[in-house]
Amino acid sequence: MKVARFHAPGDIRIEDAPEPEAGPGELKIRVRNCSTCGTDNKIFKFGHHHIRPPRVMGHEIAGEVVGTGARVQVIAAIPCGTCQECVRGRQTVCPNQESMGYHYDGGFAEYMIIPAKVLAVDGVNAIPSGVGFAEASVAEPLACVLNGQSLARVGAGDDVVVMGAGPIGCLHVRLARARGASRVFLVDVNAERLAMAAELVRPDAVIDADPAEQVLKLTGGRGADVVITAAASGAAQEQAVRMAARQGRISFFGGLPKDDPVIALDSNLVHYRELTIVGANGSSPAHNAEALRLVADGAVVVSDLITHRLPLPQVLDGIDLVSRGAAIKVTIEP
Ligand SMILES: [Zn+2]
Ligand SMILES: [Zn+2]
Repeated sequence: MKVARFHAPGDIRIEDAPEPEAGPGELKIRVRNCSTCGTDNKIFKFGHHHIRPPRVMGHEIAGEVVGTGARVQVIAAIPCGTCQECVRGRQTVCPNQESMGYHYDGGFAEYMIIPAKVLAVDGVNAIPSGVGFAEASVAEPLACVLNGQSLARVGAGDDVVVMGAGPIGCLHVRLARARGASRVFLVDVNAERLAMAAELVRPDAVIDADPAEQVLKLTGGRGADVVITAAASGAAQEQAVRMAARQGRISFFGGLPKDDPVIALDSNLVHYRELTIVGANGSSPAHNAEALRLVADGAVVVSDLITHRLPLPQVLDGIDLVSRGAAIKVTIEP
């Protein structure tokens, strides 16, 4: 079978590999869709401290169980299920978390093995009828977005700003609407990408420069109830704090580069305005199941966000499209 394997930064190879066989307690699946995201580009460029090469990449996985033909979606982040955080229901911050495509071979392959650890935490979800494999693969990033918005308590009547018009930003706009947000503003410094995203997700306003100023103008000086940074940008995080309303919530959804994680923060804004700043680290198995339900019942439409469907040998083209902002969601069909 064909696989896309990471060997070193800048070195992903399409290779022939023997079909893997499931051991006791494991599941073998025929991958139908594995979507790409910004993380794949980061791994391609810089590698990742949790990846010991060679490793089959791909963590947004949907396929069929070999033998039964069951249609399934698979989690990416695997909590241990037994540590203090997991036992208290905080699986997204499990310190023993492992990931598909990092610690285990992922979905850029015709066949893959689902480890017993994934099954032990209910990490394999049946895809509801009416939901295609490509849409189901997007349940994983949507689950992360769901975790972020639930921590930032996005709800009815909120004015929400989403900074970053990539696939994650688009999912944030759609989910904020589903949760009853009053207005959603979309920000990106790349005007072309912003226009492409806005065409699809129809924010109430788009902003490509001076975001703090513009958001204050749009909200009559009040600021936004929730600001979500879906970009690896310290400047965006700094601006986010300045455009939040009193008692506003700020989600630092996207992480910053490892070598540049420090930002300047006016602590008095947080103090006097009673701001809440929250992080977001992936998603739990329950978030994945909920995300699939949101897709199935139409609350969050994802099919139109999938702008490119590519065969496995073109996985590098897919990663390149995403990194240039020339696509919203690229899905690989091995
Ligand atoms: Zn991803
Ligand atoms: Zn744990």
